[in-house]
Amino acid sequence: MSARIIMLDEDTIGKIAAGEVVERPASAVKELIENSIDAGADSVEVEIDRSGHNLIRVADNGSGMGKEDVGMAFKRHATSKIRGITDLGNITTLGFRGEALASIAAVSQIDIVTKRAEDPAGIYMYVESGVVQRERPAARDRGTTIEVRNLFYNVPARKKFMKRESTEVSGIIDVFSDFVLSRPDISFRLIHGGRTLIEAPKGLDTLSRVGMIMGEDVPKAMTPISLSEEGIVVEGFVSVPSFTKKDKRGQFFFVNGRSVRSRVLGDAVYSSYRSLLERGRYPWGLLFITIDPGRIDVNVHPSKTEIKFESENEVKGLISRAVKKSFEDLKNADIKVFSGEGSAYPAAIKKESDVLSESIAGEQILSSPQEQAEFDYGVNSARTGGLGSVGSWGAVAEVFHSQGNGHLRLFQLGLSYIVRVTREELMITDQHAAHERVLYELFSKTLNGSSLEKQTLLFPLRIDLSPSESAVMRQIVPGLSRLGFEIDAFGEKSFVIRSVPAAIKPDQLETAVKDVISDLAHTGSGEMECMEELVKLVSCRSAVKAGDMMSCQEMSDLLTQLESCELPFTCPHGRPTTIGISLKELEKRFRRS
Ligand code: ADP
Ligand code: MG
Repeated sequence: MSARIIMLDEDTIGKIAAGEVVERPASAVKELIENSIDAGADSVEVEIDRSGHNLIRVADNGSGMGKEDVGMAFKRHATSKIRGITDLGNITTLGFRGEALASIAAVSQIDIVTKRAEDPAGIYMYVESGVVQRERPAARDRGTTIEVRNLFYNVPARKKFMKRESTEVSGIIDVFSDFVLSRPDISFRLIHGGRTLIEAPKGLDTLSRVGMIMGEDVPKAMTPISLSEEGIVVEGFVSVPSFTKKDKRGQFFFVNGRSVRSRVLGDAVYSSYRSLLERGRYPWGLLFITIDPGRIDVNVHPSKTEIKFESENEVKGLISRAVKKSFEDLKNADIKVFSGEGSAYPAAIKKESDVLSESIAGEQILSSPQEQAEFDYGVNSARTGGLGSVGSWGAVAEVFHSQGNGHLRLFQLGLSYIVRVTREELMITDQHAAHERVLYELFSKTLNGSSLEKQTLLFPLRIDLSPSESAVMRQIVPGLSRLGFEIDAFGEKSFVIRSVPAAIKPDQLETAVKDVISDLAHTGSGEMECMEELVKLVSCRSAVKAGDMMSCQEMSDLLTQLESCELPFTCPHGRPTTIGISLKELEKRFRRS
């Protein structure tokens, strides 16, 4: 069957196009803030209600618009920023496509009040489905306030894709954070459900803003970078190699002030650290690249979050050299210390630079196996020494324990596997998978009402989170308390953990909690079966990891707990916990049978 071809009506065309620009509340927030910045505002306030679907209000003190311009602004392809195709090669504003307001207006109800300095009064308009329905004069200081209500109210398909509130809010906070980080010359405030989540006054320097957005422990692990070659400038901060994150979400890139997601830039940073990073760990970074606008193309994606460089390799090379140069600087600062000239670098960084100098000399470096803000290389490299032998049977770990009665001997192989020999079999247990299984069953039982043994922390652990992390944390505190974690909020962005289930090792609690939050903030599955998912996550994140040294007692306790599990053979993700090699199998492999 073939249907007849028709022309779509304007309303439908508008809604389809809107979907490309405004995917979620966060994309509307991004476009509105861009407009405020393009209008020269030095103060931007954003308020959202719940997930941002009901209300997004953005108020600025920018140029404002005259009466005729406001009416035009909501039309598709209406812009004050370019005049024709030749201008596309030289974009200096954040917006230029003339689509944002039209797109948002097509799928929401908008109230706008705006006033220019030179006009005696401002103007108010109400716009619905892209059409101005009402207008009248209104009082206001110079600037613009736009209120977007009921986003996607007329697009049923889009409503279905609404995510959990915490996911939408994280998305908005992420978008907002980009602006806070890149424009210290502008005051920003973000309000959610009546509470101020982020408040960054004008003039607060970039590193203070880094602390506010990425977490208070981040700035002290950052080292500045700055290099300029052939008209391209790279500036910003990167973290010292021992301060890493399990994903790339600690990396922020800006090209000519525009926040961009770019693999190329991420790879360039990553490769500058080379052997300094443990597998699966990524540095933090905040990079500002300034380049002639003619040498990039910003018009490759409707939401303008991707860009193309005329010469990718040039930029990559520059970043890489900039990062290495800053490591060199760290090293030199350290040498000064030895020559008695003194240095501003704290002791922690000095230790770091020992390792860096070795790396720069081209030697193989053992990097830290766990997130360790305190840069304790003494401990870590000892641990890594074991890890280095993973996979090579020739280097069985030195840890050898003979268990009491002599029947059971436990070995820890490669700091990852527990090896034991029974009468008939060689048994190899993956310590992480096993612990994950044990915790998973324990938490599941707790949910079903069994009581759980708790340990009160001698020193309650205080965790400082970023605004988006604390939004997630607040949502999962009740769930975590059902699992035996006693956690109190402590101000807006800090939490105090007082007790945890006895079955988890508290020494890496902070990393575990942060990893759980970071996973949740970005999974974004509205359909997530919350508790089940949380149980899996917490089990995984708080279990012993590969690379963790275990005492004989700990190994033997773990095996006993594993044996009493209902499904001891796989971890909650279905991977095996234990592999057995039988005598028969050995006979086969040695070709005895
Ligand atoms: P673009 O930003 O790509 O030009 P938009 O649809 O986002 O397209 O905005 C259309 C026009 O409306 C802008 O070019 C600008 O002239 C005007 N405008 C939008 N928001 C503001 C604001 N907050 N203050 C002043 N002018 C604005
Ligand atoms: Mg715009």
